[in-house]
Amino acid sequence: MSINLQTPIDYLKGVGPNRADLLKKELGIHTYQDLINLFPNRYLDRTQYYKIHQLQRNTAEVQVIGEIISIKEVAQSRSAGRGKRLVATFKDDTGIMELVWFRGHKWIRESLKLHKPYVVFGKVNWFQGVFSMPHPDMELLEEHQKHIRSAMQPIYPSTEKLTNKGISNRVIIKIMQQLFLETQGRFQETLSDKLISELKLLAKSEAVFNIHFPKNQALLARAQFRLKFEELFYIQLQLILKNLIHKSKIKGLPFTQVGTYFNTFYNEHLPFELTQAQKRVLKEIRQDLGSNAQMNRLLQGDVGSGKTIVAFMSMLMALDNGFQACLMAPTEILSVQHYNGLLELSNNLNISIKLLTGSSNTSERKGIHKSLENGELDILIGTHALLEDKVKFKHLGLAIIDEQHRFGVEQRSKLWHKGPATSSQNKTDLGVIPPHILVMTATPIPRTLAMSVYGDLDISVIDELPPGRQAIKTVHRYDKNRLKVFRFIRDEIEKGRQIYIVYPLIQESEKMDYKDLMDGYESIVRDFPPPKYQISIVHGKMKPADKDYEMQRFIKGETNIMVATTVIEVGVNVPNASVMIIESAERFGLSQLHQLRGRVGRGAEQSYCILMTSHKLSNDSKIRLDTMCSTNDGFEIAEVDLKLRGPGDLMGTQQSGVLNLKIADLIKDKDILQSARYYAKNVLQNDPTLKHPENKAILNTYQQLGKYKNIWNYIS
Ligand code: ADP
Ligand code: MG
Repeated sequence: MSINLQTPIDYLKGVGPNRADLLKKELGIHTYQDLINLFPNRYLDRTQYYKIHQLQRNTAEVQVIGEIISIKEVAQSRSAGRGKRLVATFKDDTGIMELVWFRGHKWIRESLKLHKPYVVFGKVNWFQGVFSMPHPDMELLEEHQKHIRSAMQPIYPSTEKLTNKGISNRVIIKIMQQLFLETQGRFQETLSDKLISELKLLAKSEAVFNIHFPKNQALLARAQFRLKFEELFYIQLQLILKNLIHKSKIKGLPFTQVGTYFNTFYNEHLPFELTQAQKRVLKEIRQDLGSNAQMNRLLQGDVGSGKTIVAFMSMLMALDNGFQACLMAPTEILSVQHYNGLLELSNNLNISIKLLTGSSNTSERKGIHKSLENGELDILIGTHALLEDKVKFKHLGLAIIDEQHRFGVEQRSKLWHKGPATSSQNKTDLGVIPPHILVMTATPIPRTLAMSVYGDLDISVIDELPPGRQAIKTVHRYDKNRLKVFRFIRDEIEKGRQIYIVYPLIQESEKMDYKDLMDGYESIVRDFPPPKYQISIVHGKMKPADKDYEMQRFIKGETNIMVATTVIEVGVNVPNASVMIIESAERFGLSQLHQLRGRVGRGAEQSYCILMTSHKLSNDSKIRLDTMCSTNDGFEIAEVDLKLRGPGDLMGTQQSGVLNLKIADLIKDKDILQSARYYAKNVLQNDPTLKHPENKAILNTYQQLGKYKNIWNYIS
């Protein structure tokens, strides 16, 4: 029967090559299918008509019937910039208003008709007693009355270029109507009958119709639900399948035993009792390592939650099974910190551990390369220097990556190839058996998001801090209360504590930022004069040696106050520092504020974080500050951050592709996402190959998605 939805959009009546070109370039619409998936941003109630004398000075959109009585071009006032605007005087039986265009004059002027009844629609501005409607959506009353209007009118996404070239919202609606005519509004069902009846979903055709031309609010809501569910369902289906395929396809190195290293450490050298969360996560990792599949696990845990010891104990499992392990961190400081930490933990275990970074010299490197290849070296720690081709392991069993968000998927896969070569009876596509992979991150990714983005990774979460940590008290103070804040600092120093004062540094306003920093530094020196008080200062323009010197003075406790830009964000550990003051806190993002705050609260003392701001605060800043003051929970903070900034930003571009959602919203539609994941799992549990007749629609749709074409070989 039906029209192939892959038909190029050019073939739709009323589109033609020029419009098709614009639709492709501006909205990515190439086919009928793409047009169907152009979902309205919002809907307008166009059943109401206003008289000009009824217009109000608000921002609601209104619909007015009247006639154009004159058109003129007017030079812009100087403050409004160069160019002219086109102004039409519009009149009904109660008054006059203006219609205004700032762009596309020629085309518009030619198309406007004088003394003909029009329906104009849009927001109105008010200036000196006259209402004006910029760039109105308009059509002749005669045309307007021809269309049977649904109660709500869709407003489609658009671009300036489309509007300028005459593809207004009304044109898109027309094109859409044409599409429904040609297809008779019949669209192939994409979900199974079972899902539709169980979830009481609208059928596909009905949902598609009501998303574009809702008959009423209730049907619109059901249409939205159905289409959001469908979108999220197929994303989850893909991710879950990918994971299943991965597990059956990628052979892992079986770690069959828990041996001497692990047991000795666990029974005799554990420096503290593990938290329940750490134990649970270790169990999850042990299960993965013992199975025949390669582990690909994400370990999430807030700063200070104790991921390092989990990493270390996982490495011991590798060693117990005759394998080597490595740990990669994004910066040299972090690598060194890990190296020292692991040396300490492995003190009595007779393990050989080495550090490899960009500053390792040639002879160190040579030694490391050799002992890696002959198997003398058990654990290698380092920066991405580990990824170099020269670094070859004898039998790498486990690779751990710290701070995953700074490494890309490519780097993860590079590590795969460092696994032992496969024997002929154990062939994989890679020619090697990849090591187990554990990626760790302190960037708390909300579960809902992690589920969608890292669907190919299994996820473990350490959601509990080691005991005895006191929650950091966070307050917001305005600049005018600085004296009180200084008094508080003095008291804390009196008690023997140390203080951080951090200034923002943003590339665009670097000069001003340094001025702020130096001004701040000077005023602090005035209030905390030597020799009674000692102050360190650290910023990015200093030589590394000077920076290090100043840091060391603070770390050793020789200075009371550390004035710094955000360079201290990563890597400093000074348990005696109990106060973090963040200047111009409104200029920092939430995750950065949270990371900075994590520099204190590392010792036994009550710690404080003081957010200093000026009086002028944007709404977003207020939300950020309130969030910081009300919670220490990194996950909660990440949720808010996600709401404020959107997911793409949070994850970096490489991973945001998955999140290119057409209708669903990961935050607002969290519940639908959860349900979609549940049903996707459920469907696959009962029918992993989607070969049951009842799942035919799902299989078809899935295959049309066109990805992972060869999967059926692996899972059947
Ligand atoms: P992160 O997750 O940020 O990497 P670390 O592994 O560096 O955290 O741990 C932070 C601090 O907490 C370290 O000093 C570590 O020794 C300590 N720690 C970790 N786990 C525990 C625990 N179960 N009990 C007490 N202290 C712990
Ligand atoms: Mg860490």
